[in-house]
Amino acid sequence: MEKKINDLIESYRDEFVRTLQEWIRIPSIKAEAEPGAPFGSEIGRMMDLAMETAGKMGFAVKGYDGYACDATLGDCPEVLGVLGHLDVVPVGDGWIKPPFGAEIEDGKIYGRGTNDDKGPTLAALFAMKALKEAGVPLKRSIRLIMGGDEECDWEDMKYYAAHAQMPEIGFSPDASFPLINTEKGMLHMELRFPQAEDGLKILKMATGERPNVIAGESIALLEGGEELAGKVKAYAEKTGLDYKAKVTEEGVLVTATGISGHSAYPEGKRSAIGMMLKLMKELGAQGGIAVLAEAVGLESDGKSLGCACEDKVSGKLTNNMGILRLENGEWYGTLDFRCPVEADQELLKRECAGHLPGIQMTVISQKEPHHVPADSELVRSLLAAYEEESGLKGEAMATGGGTYAKVLKQGVAFGAVFPGEEELAHLANEYESIDSLMLAMKIYANALYRLCAE
Ligand SMILES: [Zn+2]
Repeated sequence: MEKKINDLIESYRDEFVRTLQEWIRIPSIKAEAEPGAPFGSEIGRMMDLAMETAGKMGFAVKGYDGYACDATLGDCPEVLGVLGHLDVVPVGDGWIKPPFGAEIEDGKIYGRGTNDDKGPTLAALFAMKALKEAGVPLKRSIRLIMGGDEECDWEDMKYYAAHAQMPEIGFSPDASFPLINTEKGMLHMELRFPQAEDGLKILKMATGERPNVIAGESIALLEGGEELAGKVKAYAEKTGLDYKAKVTEEGVLVTATGISGHSAYPEGKRSAIGMMLKLMKELGAQGGIAVLAEAVGLESDGKSLGCACEDKVSGKLTNNMGILRLENGEWYGTLDFRCPVEADQELLKRECAGHLPGIQMTVISQKEPHHVPADSELVRSLLAAYEEESGLKGEAMATGGGTYAKVLKQGVAFGAVFPGEEELAHLANEYESIDSLMLAMKIYANALYRLCAE
């Protein structure tokens, strides 16, 4: 039976690639709500296309008013859930390929969503198709649940949980292989503070679109001329960091270039907002900007906010300031904390507030950490499938990234980035190797067979 399933999967390759291209070509970034499309018309269109794809394969398909949709194989009372998402983050700068072109080069398919999360979600759907066409008798039904708001507020899963029976067990193909059984807690905060009356005059700055993205570039317009530009250059030399200053009619236009990435994985990255804060303080900024330069700055471990901590199963706390904007004389910013399983989030909030005098802090979302034991049936079966198909060693890991896995009582994140592959979620030039996606499809089919076949 396993051979039959893998032969079927091989035969899907062209159809899979063609379908994925169609999926990638829809720029399903969250936008203004429209009737029947709570996350905007493009996510609505993507939801319709996903249902069409699954419907053509012969699955029982159901839509949930534009919030989410699902496709089910089998009619057993017990259901295993596979949770993916159809929304994508904004494209950002630095693309060399059209971000929604789905171009293929050297066996790689390029585009926003190829890796996070349309490629892996579609691979899971094709794995279900293989089980269906192989005629595998089931003891558990398999339900692929596709949400439209994973990158923002998870309103999709709230709606789904309120209108459908959420499975208890399953996985989310929205992270890395081998498998993630521990997810850190999450704390998102908004900061507001007034523009300082004295010190450096900042005329314009608007960096970042999402709390969970480490800004790769920050631009600010500062009041001043040649002298100020000279100070920027001197600071660039002193720190060895990439700052550029250009004198214009309106003031000095400063660009800080960091290293962009996902907020949960700050290692090897550098926040351009952190760089800009440090520079502005050096140039004499007062008030909240000076406070943030000291309390956040270039740190990603929350140390100067009094929040640094770690534990054995989950590792270190991470923090990112993803947005900092000046809007009508008032500053707006965000902080995104990923907290170890054992961390006390209430204490973290108090510490944070204590280290940000003069800054109004509001918690906009909070997610508890999540952990599934490594010796559970779920984890053991998924890792066995991974080892059998990839020939690689399986192990359970922890992450600061949040996936839908924690929506399920017994849920883990499973793929689809392989060890040694570039982590391109939320970055420019996101791509996926087609071979890797095909291997992921085999792993998913193998795993579904282990967990759901009679
Ligand atoms: Zn994702």
